[in-house]
Amino acid sequence: MTVGTSLPRDEHAGAAAYREQIALLAETLPSALADGDLSAFYDVFRSTELPFVAAAHARQPGPLLRLCFEILHRLGAISPATALAIENHYYVTSAIATAPLADGDARDARRRLLSVIEERRVLVANTSSKVHASRLGAIGTSARRRGDGFRVNGTAAYMSLATEADVLVFITQIADEGPAIFAIEPLHDNPSIEIGPYLFPEAMLDSDTHRVTFHDLDLRADALLVGPRDAHARAFIAFEMAWHQLLIPALYLGAAAGAIEEVRRFARATRARDDQPLAEVDGMVADVGRMAIEYRSACATVLRAGDRLAAVRRFPDDLGALEHAVDDAGVAKYVGTRCAEAVVGAARRIVGPRSFTGGQLLERLSQEAMFGPLGPEVSSVIERRHGRRALREDPFLEQWW
Ligand SMILES: Cc1cc2nc3c(=O)[nH]c(=O)nc-3n(C[C@H](O)[C@H](O)[C@H](O)COP(=O)(O)OP(=O)(O)OC[C@H]3O[C@@H](n4cnc5c(N)ncnc54)[C@H](O)[C@@H]3O)c2cc1C
Repeated sequence: MTVGTSLPRDEHAGAAAYREQIALLAETLPSALADGDLSAFYDVFRSTELPFVAAAHARQPGPLLRLCFEILHRLGAISPATALAIENHYYVTSAIATAPLADGDARDARRRLLSVIEERRVLVANTSSKVHASRLGAIGTSARRRGDGFRVNGTAAYMSLATEADVLVFITQIADEGPAIFAIEPLHDNPSIEIGPYLFPEAMLDSDTHRVTFHDLDLRADALLVGPRDAHARAFIAFEMAWHQLLIPALYLGAAAGAIEEVRRFARATRARDDQPLAEVDGMVADVGRMAIEYRSACATVLRAGDRLAAVRRFPDDLGALEHAVDDAGVAKYVGTRCAEAVVGAARRIVGPRSFTGGQLLERLSQEAMFGPLGPEVSSVIERRHGRRALREDPFLEQWW
């Protein structure tokens, strides 16, 4: 899929080059997956300009969002898990690059991090420090001020891109203060950071998702990207989450597009028992039409929500706009990931059991598309937010959205 207006061609002569690089990645990924070793894919990824587009488009959040959508959509059509690993790099770097913070709100720390990412061509993993505890939403890590810096301890359940990334950006709580975002570099060969086994021992292996534990990890003051003493720390965290909620459906909608492509090939290469090409059987045409309509309307929802987020340019002026953008991003994530799961399921039913023979793409897409609704925000949370709003005192017909 090419998102028509994704790149400002006149302003950026590299648009065609980006597309070539996306095609190169899409060519490299299947053989890396078949070899069970993604290092060749990551070598190619790092050799392109694609991982560093956030810094290059910091002042163009709209085109940046569409470019990230395009990259993740293309990779999600081949391997949702690999695209998920990379999505973490994209949403974090994009949110940091386009953050609408005012001067003084940790701007220098963010600028420094962006130049490290661009100059040293590094990849960024992240964790929000969630853990699987007896209470939902539990945070497993915390930081304490210590001298001029901080000491971090605890465990986070999820960190994708864990073995490939060079930098970790993570959210934690500073004791007695509130939420904060830190950056750690280097992520590896640090005795205070223990990267554990795969979180999901069988599923989503290519997302490189591991547990991570911090043992008395001492950080300098400048590792703090956004802290509770910054005027708009919570708004920045919401802004970053909105980026995440928009880019996750991009990759899963890629999986949906990949599944429709598999149906197209199957239907064009196969005949019904009466010898009619399946691609010409009326029921097949209607079924695939429904899938395409659902896919296209979900893509439109995500891109429209992206435009809303791109319009959030400055705090505190745009805090109201941020609230709506966050809401729309939740809807986009919900609609996009549900659509992807449904379309992949429908494709599997059309192609039939041969979907699971001989390393068919539909097998991989089936096993991975189901993860879409599971995060970052789970569908049950998004449904309840919108349900509560729809049921509040003022008439639904008068509610603004
Ligand atoms: C493959 C994969 C990779 C990931 N990689 C990363 C990563 O790199 N970094 C990172 O920080 N995170 C990562 N995550 C975590 C992700 O961002 C979400 O935090 C996570 O998927 C949400 O799951 P949870 O365990 O926090 O769900 P929970 O919040 O614990 O919810 C579990 C279940 O409880 C129910 N529930 C929850 N809230 C409510 C409610 N309000 N009302 C009713 N029922 C409710 C729902 O049925 C829900 O499915 C990853 C997740 C996956 C699946």
